[in-house]
Amino acid sequence: MGIQKSQSIFERAKQVIPGGVNSPVRACRSVGADPVFVAQGDGAYITDVDGNRYIDLIGSWGPLILGHSHHEILDAIAEAMSHGTTFGAPTEIEVRFAETIRAAYPSMEMVRAVSSGTEATMTALRLARGFTGRDKIVKTDGGYHGHADAFLVAAGSGVATLGIPGSAGVPEGAARDTLVVPYNDLEALEATFVANPGQIAAVIVEPIAGNMGLVLPKAGYLEGLRTITAKHGALLIFDEVISGFRATYRGAQGIYGVTPDLTTLGKIVGGGLPAAAFGGRRDIMEKLAPLGPVYQAGTLSGNPLAMAAGLKVLSILDRPGVYERLDQLGKRLGDGLLAAAQAAGVPAQVNRIGSMVTLFFTQTPVVDYATAKTSDTQRFGSFFRNMRDRGVFLPPAQFEAMFVSLAHTDEDVDQVIASAKASLLG
Ligand SMILES: *Cc1c(COP(=O)(O)O)cnc(C)c1O
Repeated sequence: MGIQKSQSIFERAKQVIPGGVNSPVRACRSVGADPVFVAQGDGAYITDVDGNRYIDLIGSWGPLILGHSHHEILDAIAEAMSHGTTFGAPTEIEVRFAETIRAAYPSMEMVRAVSSGTEATMTALRLARGFTGRDKIVKTDGGYHGHADAFLVAAGSGVATLGIPGSAGVPEGAARDTLVVPYNDLEALEATFVANPGQIAAVIVEPIAGNMGLVLPKAGYLEGLRTITAKHGALLIFDEVISGFRATYRGAQGIYGVTPDLTTLGKIVGGGLPAAAFGGRRDIMEKLAPLGPVYQAGTLSGNPLAMAAGLKVLSILDRPGVYERLDQLGKRLGDGLLAAAQAAGVPAQVNRIGSMVTLFFTQTPVVDYATAKTSDTQRFGSFFRNMRDRGVFLPPAQFEAMFVSLAHTDEDVDQVIASAKASLLG
């Protein structure tokens, strides 16, 4: 499978774009590969500039739950575009977007649209601080909440607990107020509250963790987060940028029946265009400008093309049988990958919910970042390269989830599993 055209574009790219990419994981460095440049997406498939076709399990890192170039989405964007692209003045479709989100996530009594998940989490944090008058926040080890300074605290044990920034350019002051606890560990959280009395504004957590590979909350974990934050007067923020409209229509909060104070959404809600949202309790949301003192704004916030794409996706996802089908596909993939690893004698764990699947190369059940890191990332790198050579595009990192879409067929999934068997034996 030749990738000469991709390689020559990559050479040009590296001259003008740092690392040749506009988001670091796309460079495929952690799996020891060069990126391929995409020419086109169609349903479950992408085609690169050299004409190679791949079954896509990245789905643009989550948004494309219907697959690529879905005709109803393209039509909705074209229709919205015929009226103009952006106004910087309110449009009715933004109201429908907020109403649709509130209907699916009743905890989001009020909603504001932004352009990226990073903006949503960054603003939720500012709002939590403004509302409580407290500065500190708690996140989980291995939790990802976009690239705002306060969230870039090293997701690694000793460094993390010291509050040393996990990125150059993050001032110590921005990191010092970020406290880190292991995922699925309520005792550590309670101890953190006891050690910082009256100082913690919020706990932000992915209620279904998708950025250390897929890790599910243990029974009682989300309820415990609710109880502990309420007891200490801190807000609970569910970052459902991945899990929202993915795990089910109503996200993790719908599955587990736990009500956060604030929620962030992204990825799927933009329908493949840049849109995200945050929302929550009315009394908190009313602290936002122009009603309250917490400032937030955006030139392209609530962009009508993105709203149209997002609303169309949500209306399709609300049809009967959609999540049952996604679950069948996800189960077929997860079970098949595990069987393929076992047949090859490779130690493996599969974590899955609905259409999100992670295959970890480890014997240890993965319940948090520490156990996720027991995975053999060298093996993952060669697995990624073998799979891509066989026409399957996996997320180029062990600590990510594969996404199946409604465009995938049983045959596509079986093809992935057959490729996995061959890759792991080879
Ligand atoms: C992707 C992601 C973000 C950041 O969203 P961007 O649109 O990439 O800025 C935040 N939180 C979670 C849980 C995510 O998966």
